[in-house]
Amino acid sequence: MIDSLRDMYSSLSSNVERRLFSEYGAVFVTAATPPPTIIFADAVEVETFQSSLRVEGAVLGVYYIELQSQAMEHLARATDEIRSRGGCLTARASDAGRRSFEDTVRLWTRNVDRGLDHWESLDRISPARARAISNLPPAVQVEAILELEEAEQLYFGTYFDRSILYSVAAPGASQHLSMLAFDATEFSEEAVERTLNRLGWYHTVANDLPHFTFLGHSEDALPELGLKRVSRLYDGRNYNFWVPEINECRIIEA
Ligand SMILES: [Zn+2]
Repeated sequence: MIDSLRDMYSSLSSNVERRLFSEYGAVFVTAATPPPTIIFADAVEVETFQSSLRVEGAVLGVYYIELQSQAMEHLARATDEIRSRGGCLTARASDAGRRSFEDTVRLWTRNVDRGLDHWESLDRISPARARAISNLPPAVQVEAILELEEAEQLYFGTYFDRSILYSVAAPGASQHLSMLAFDATEFSEEAVERTLNRLGWYHTVANDLPHFTFLGHSEDALPELGLKRVSRLYDGRNYNFWVPEINECRIIEA
C-alpha cells in the first residue's frame, strides 16, 4: 500500500517514471490491488503479478474479457443497471480488459514505427537514426521517444500532433496489465459514464475516452486520495478525468 500519491511521486527517480505516473498514476489509489510498480520491466513481472490476483472473466457484448474480481463485480453491476434501463455496456475489443506485456509492446511499436516513417518521410529524422531508435529495447525506446517529442517536437501520437502517450501506453505501463482497466464501446453516453462512476469506474487517462479505470471509491473521496478532476470537451461533450494532483516544486539555486 502506498501512503499517498504525492509521496509516491516524490520518490520517483527518473523523468520517464514521473511522466508515466502523471499520465496513468490514478490507478494507485484503487480499492482493489494496485500494481507493484509504475512500469513492469518484462513479461515475467506482469505474469507474476497477474497470477497473484483474484481474477474473473465475462463476456460483455461479443468479447470475453478478464479483470480483477472486485473490478469485474462492479462492472457487472453497472452492466445490469444499464441493461435494466434498456441500454448496453459492452467491451470495445478482445483486449478491452486484461492485456499481456507483449500486447503493450506490440501496440507501442506500431505507433513508434508509424511515427518514424512519418518523420523520416518529412526529412526530420535520418534513416539511420530512425533505424537505431526502432532497434532499441522497449524501456530505452520509451525514453528516446519521449525525449524526441520534448526536445524536437517530433510527436508520435496517432496524428503526429501530440505525445504518443495520448495514443498508447508505454510498454509495461498500461493499466490493462493490472486488470483494472476496461475499454467501453458506449463511452460517449453520459448515462453510461454516470453509472460507471457510481460503481467506482472513472476516466483517469486524459484523451483516452473509451478507457475506464476501477478505483472503487465514491467520487467525493477522490480529492482526498490525491486526485484532481480535469474536464475536457470532445465533440461537444464534457468529459471528466481524475488524474494525480502533482505540484512540481522546483528549487532554483542562485
Ligand atoms: Zn484502455
